[in-house]
Amino acid sequence: MNIKASILVVDDDAGGRRLTRATLHRAGFEVREAGDGQAALDSMRQDMPDLVLLDVSMPLMDGFTACAELRRLPGGGGVPVVMMTGLDDTQSIERAFEVGATDFITKPINWAVLPHRVRYMLRASSAINDLQQNQRRLSNAQRIGEMGDWEWQLRDDNLAPSPQAWRIFGHDEPVPRMSSAEFFAAVHAEDAERLRQACQRAVANAEGFAIDHRVLLADGSLRHVHQQVEVIERQVDGSALRLAGAVHDITRRKDAEEQIRRLAYYDPLTGLPNRLLFVEQLSKALAQAERQKRQVAIMFIDLDNFKRVNDTLGHKAGDELLRLASTRLGSALRAQDSLSRPCSEQPPHSIARLGGDEFIVLLTDVQSPENAACVAQRLVNTLGEPLTVQGTEVFVGGSVGVAMYPADGNDIDTLLMNADTAMYRAKAAGRGGFQLYDRSMNARALDRLRMETRLRRALERNEFVLHYQPRVDVVNGSIVGAEALIRWQHPDRGLLPPGEFIKLAEDAGLVIPIGEWAIRTVCKQNAEWFAAGLCTVPVAVNLASTHLRERGLPALVAQALEDHHVPASCLEIEVTESILLADPEISIAIATQLAEMGVQLSIDDFGTGYSSLAYLKKLPISALKIDRSFVRDLVTDPDDEAIVSAIIALAHSLKLKVVAEGVETQDQLAFLQAMNCDEYQGFLSSRAVDPKEFGLLLQRLPQIQPILVLA
Ligand code: C2E
Ligand code: CA
Ligand code: CA
Repeated sequence: MNIKASILVVDDDAGGRRLTRATLHRAGFEVREAGDGQAALDSMRQDMPDLVLLDVSMPLMDGFTACAELRRLPGGGGVPVVMMTGLDDTQSIERAFEVGATDFITKPINWAVLPHRVRYMLRASSAINDLQQNQRRLSNAQRIGEMGDWEWQLRDDNLAPSPQAWRIFGHDEPVPRMSSAEFFAAVHAEDAERLRQACQRAVANAEGFAIDHRVLLADGSLRHVHQQVEVIERQVDGSALRLAGAVHDITRRKDAEEQIRRLAYYDPLTGLPNRLLFVEQLSKALAQAERQKRQVAIMFIDLDNFKRVNDTLGHKAGDELLRLASTRLGSALRAQDSLSRPCSEQPPHSIARLGGDEFIVLLTDVQSPENAACVAQRLVNTLGEPLTVQGTEVFVGGSVGVAMYPADGNDIDTLLMNADTAMYRAKAAGRGGFQLYDRSMNARALDRLRMETRLRRALERNEFVLHYQPRVDVVNGSIVGAEALIRWQHPDRGLLPPGEFIKLAEDAGLVIPIGEWAIRTVCKQNAEWFAAGLCTVPVAVNLASTHLRERGLPALVAQALEDHHVPASCLEIEVTESILLADPEISIAIATQLAEMGVQLSIDDFGTGYSSLAYLKKLPISALKIDRSFVRDLVTDPDDEAIVSAIIALAHSLKLKVVAEGVETQDQLAFLQAMNCDEYQGFLSSRAVDPKEFGLLLQRLPQIQPILVLA
């Protein structure tokens, strides 16, 4: 230590004081003096010395009182105090220790020994201080880290836990040592045997182990604990003599894991299992049913009027309705359970919410399809009764489809699919009823129905994708736009072109949600290309002509643009002439609204319909797309050449752009160039490609080679 230790010498005998001072000073200490107890306390309040030499008998305040007071001063607890007592004055010595003295020396003082005594006392006191500090730090670290430790002496079964370890095991008062049985008394009864065996193995094989177990607290709550145990001393025969364990309170982590599990497996709105958990339950139920040669029923339930309630009364009401409906279904099923006491260890039913207003029920013990039908009818009935949602009485109603294992399918997918198909048939047959899956339907009708069921799921399962075909300037070959063309990533049949499903989608009333999805997707895609630093172009979406009669369309388009922060100029709409066949007034009004927002409209497949141009003029359109059937024979068929050239002239006179579709050859392009056609699409420049590949086309945009213009 470079800094000199400071010693306070307290003695009323000035002569003795000075001698002490001189002796210690010579030995290299810094020395302060005080003539009585009070003066000593004042001095220490100002500056705490490293050691105090304190005379016992002094006037005003004697050494005992001064020592006791000093121990109460802030920081005065750790200073070594050496009392100077008379020789053989055992009474004083005893009192000195009682009031907190560290040591004593007797008068007359042996001057030769004094510096050594002092030095020794200082060293001992600093060692004690370090030890206390380390203990404090260890204890803080254990408390902060929710960890504790223990040591277990096996020979006499003596276990010494750290206070934190003791607290983790549910006790307040720290106990220095105890038997292992006392320490592990709070381990949860179901885990105790496992822990005992692990300890036994550790002792016998002298090998550490790690274990997770629960601790039952006095208030009945549970704590999760992780213990890591090591052998720290062995006997000569190799078996363990002493074990050390680190205890970690992992309750918080376990709680978080449980929460994550709940989030992953349960629907937060109704508290019912979600699809994931349901599929797990179903797979267990099927395995059991197979072993026991039993039947299982799967019921698909769809609420009939949910959307209307949600739209008119709002989301809150919709949520409440779903909760009420799920409780209803639950109680109807429980009533059913008590009617037919099953003899299986599996719960006789389980119910899950698949999302939206769809629920699914599993009955694990059904004697027959009739039996299942009876339950289905009960579910339909219970949903048919009015519900009070936010003070309003509503009739929600539901349709139920039933599939039976093993008759209607052996695996989860087929069963769910067939229950879904049956539910859809129940809906089609008039809502508020149930249908059993009908195996007698002919194969083609069934295929179609299945395809339709799959198609209805495709949107929510994100199975549609858009590919993009560039629209190219006829004169210089640069990309001036794109058309979004839908594909369906069918789970079994791969990537399907729209020809295989758009008609079906129209029949199933899906073409409008698909169109809405396409609008949103195009906006999102354009925003992504833009964010990737690419030069973006307007992208056209194909909409069914019925979509142009949807009054909500302009608002939906506005929302999609806003959501993705893209301008109206990034989106275009293509419709066929059939838009004018029914309710042309409405279509014209909606098209006008879109045009006013800045969304351009073109007429697709022009030339194949029978629309009068007079009518078309009422629509705010910006382009005509010549159907590819005219382009195909353009070079060889003079009739087609005449038609195309007439369309172009006519369009130009109406100030409309002309886009030729299906251009596959340079010859066709040359004809179109000669006819002053504005733009074209076709395999000649590119097929429709996925977004990534289209991004590459956009990347090359400024460098695209101009195509030669024929003279
Ligand atoms: P469309 O709007 O006339 O689209 C042009 C079709 O011609 C596309 O077929 C395209 O791949 C194809 N095509 C492009 N260039 C050439 C070429 O050089 N030669 C030939 N032979 N064909 C070419 P796709 O993608 O199969 O689309 C077929 C139809 O499906 C579309 O005809 C459109 O009516 C409809 N469709 C596509 N996407 C959607 C959509 O998102 N919604 C709706 N409602 N209908 C869509
Ligand atoms: Ca089109
Ligand atoms: Ca077309």
